[in-house]
Amino acid sequence: MVVNSKHSAEQRQCSRCCINDLNRILAHPPIWSDGSFSQALPDLLDIVVDMLHLDFAYVRLKDPVKMEYLEVARTARSLVGAIAPQEVSSVLSTSLGQDPKTWPLIQRIAIGERELSTISLHLGWLPDDTGMLVAASHRAEFPEEAETLRLRIAANQIASGLQEARLFSQRTRVDETTDQEVWRRTKEILALSEDRRQEIVELRRVVESLRVREIDIQLIVDAIPAPLAIMTVDGEVEAVNRPVLEYFGMGADELKRWSTTGAVHPDDVAATISTWRRAVQTGEPYEVESRHRRSDGVYRWFSVRGFPLRDKHGDIVRWCVLQIDVEERKRAEEALRANERNLNLIINTIPGLVWSASADGSADFVNQHYADYVGFDLEHLQGSRWTAAIHPDDRSGMAHAWRSFMTSRRAGEREARLRRFDGTYRWFLFRANPLLDESGNVIKWFGINTDIEDRKRAEEQLRDTQTKLAHMARMTTMSELTASIAHEVNQPLSGIVTNASTCLRMLAADPPNVAGALETVRRTLRDGNRASDIIGRLRSLFNRKAPVARPVDLNEATREVIPLLLNRLHRDGVSLRMEFAEDLPLAAGDRVQLQQVILNLLQNAMDAMSMIDDRPRTLTIRTEREQSNWIRLSVQDSGHGFDGEAIEKLFDAFYTTKDDGMGIGLSVSRSIIENHHGRLWASLNDGWGATFSFSIPRSAESITSAHSLDAKGTLGEGGVTRNV
Ligand code: ADP
Repeated sequence: MVVNSKHSAEQRQCSRCCINDLNRILAHPPIWSDGSFSQALPDLLDIVVDMLHLDFAYVRLKDPVKMEYLEVARTARSLVGAIAPQEVSSVLSTSLGQDPKTWPLIQRIAIGERELSTISLHLGWLPDDTGMLVAASHRAEFPEEAETLRLRIAANQIASGLQEARLFSQRTRVDETTDQEVWRRTKEILALSEDRRQEIVELRRVVESLRVREIDIQLIVDAIPAPLAIMTVDGEVEAVNRPVLEYFGMGADELKRWSTTGAVHPDDVAATISTWRRAVQTGEPYEVESRHRRSDGVYRWFSVRGFPLRDKHGDIVRWCVLQIDVEERKRAEEALRANERNLNLIINTIPGLVWSASADGSADFVNQHYADYVGFDLEHLQGSRWTAAIHPDDRSGMAHAWRSFMTSRRAGEREARLRRFDGTYRWFLFRANPLLDESGNVIKWFGINTDIEDRKRAEEQLRDTQTKLAHMARMTTMSELTASIAHEVNQPLSGIVTNASTCLRMLAADPPNVAGALETVRRTLRDGNRASDIIGRLRSLFNRKAPVARPVDLNEATREVIPLLLNRLHRDGVSLRMEFAEDLPLAAGDRVQLQQVILNLLQNAMDAMSMIDDRPRTLTIRTEREQSNWIRLSVQDSGHGFDGEAIEKLFDAFYTTKDDGMGIGLSVSRSIIENHHGRLWASLNDGWGATFSFSIPRSAESITSAHSLDAKGTLGEGGVTRNV
């Protein structure tokens, strides 16, 4: 390895100079024994000017004892006549700016015709610390690296002097005994008039002894398991305990710069500082919440509580600052707030008028919809004022219902009209639900009022439609009945007319046929009674009286209905088959009503086949004896049949699949048959179409007479299958 011996000798020489210079600086604390800078600082600056061949050196700081700004400047001899020390400050303000905090590190300035290089070094860390050391030299290369180092050491030395002076003044106030001791010993040292360096060494020793007290404080602070800091009255962190160090993962020195290192969230620094300043002004305990960065970089919320520590004179000597982790509480609060927001959103967007009332029933909350609907805010609805918006006719009913809910402590509901902001009343369903405590006492009532105006209208319309439908059904049934009655009554009437003319003819004969005339008169009477019976039965039907059970020949009753359908049978090309049982017993029932059922079944069968074109339209009427005491009548068609699932619906009133249907026929038919103690049902055929059947009890007591009376008509065509 080649070594430039001359160069290394120069380097060694330079290093030696440097170390000597550093020793000179370090050996010269800038604080005097009374804690002031007045004498020590100019001496230190002289050393620096001399050492670095400066044109001037300047210090600006806040004297922690006198609490006022202090400026000291020392100039080189070469500058005499160019600038006086007392002018340095204004030259710097003009050249570098009014605010020392913003002075650039290195800058060229002009003094008269001279050009100087300046270096400005900060003396502290706190944001409001304006302490500065400025050194200036006309040398263009100033400051070199080694010079900067020396100046920094000087700046640190001044800063630590500042700190010591601060401690000095505080401790003086803390403990009078110690204070007196310090003074006594300091005076002793001064009295000795020894070498000044020795004095300072001794002074340092005294200060060190004071640090023992500091350690005591540290011990106490460390013993507290919660994060705790002790601050000086100037707001400087003096001591922090282990939990603080562990939490932040920083050293105590670094924590002193908490406002700029991110230890406290940048967004919370300003509030913390202003709270602190207020507390210092008032001397009152303070509390501020701020986010502190944990060693892993995560910020957590803390409640920072500071309270002053006072000496026996009541002067504040320290601030004790406790930091309580409130992250979980903050989160819970945020979750609660989010829940509240959510709940409010839900309550105000629910399509209903939501309200709550206290246990005594007086309203204490309404949602936005409620307020908007009635056009009042909560204030005008509170207590029992909400009832003013209820329709006058519904008010007493509502009050009664509300009282009964409260007495029973049970949920309840009531319909009432509620006035809208524009004066229109709409129907609402008021629903109230109690919130009960463990003993069953009401804590609160919650409720929702739902607008049922449209439903109410629909219900009314439905009722109206039902009434109309019922009327139409009655009319339809009546028209069908009228047709059947016309036929029914027509028969005996034509019998009467025929018999009457026969009677006339017999009486007009010579000799008159009296016996024959008597017979025809008897027949006339019989037919007259028959017509009267029909009308009577008709009345009983419309009076909804139970049918009068008489023996009825179903074959004959059916045959009487067929002529009413002949036109349509022909028009639709339906072939009718009648399969009547020969020995069909008489049924017990109302002939007209049973005929109405048969007519309806036949009409439905023809309707079901009206659209059928791909197969014969066949209608079969069948009567048969069922077991011993029952008679069945079936109407079978080859129509479209019905959906198997709709089998029970067919008999429901108003069920219809026809465009012009009423859905009444089968329902009326079933009730007629059931009034006859019988049964009406439907089934699908094996092939096409459906079969509708009813079975009713036979009339046991009249079977014989009925046979003898009507034997001819019934038996004549009974058992014959006939196509029409
Ligand atoms: P509507 O006069 O409306 O037809 P009904 O009570 O007589 O009233 O019948 C109700 C419904 O039953 C009909 O709309 C039809 O759907 C069904 N229905 C009745 N008879 C038959 C049948 N023979 N074949 C198929 N469906 C039928």
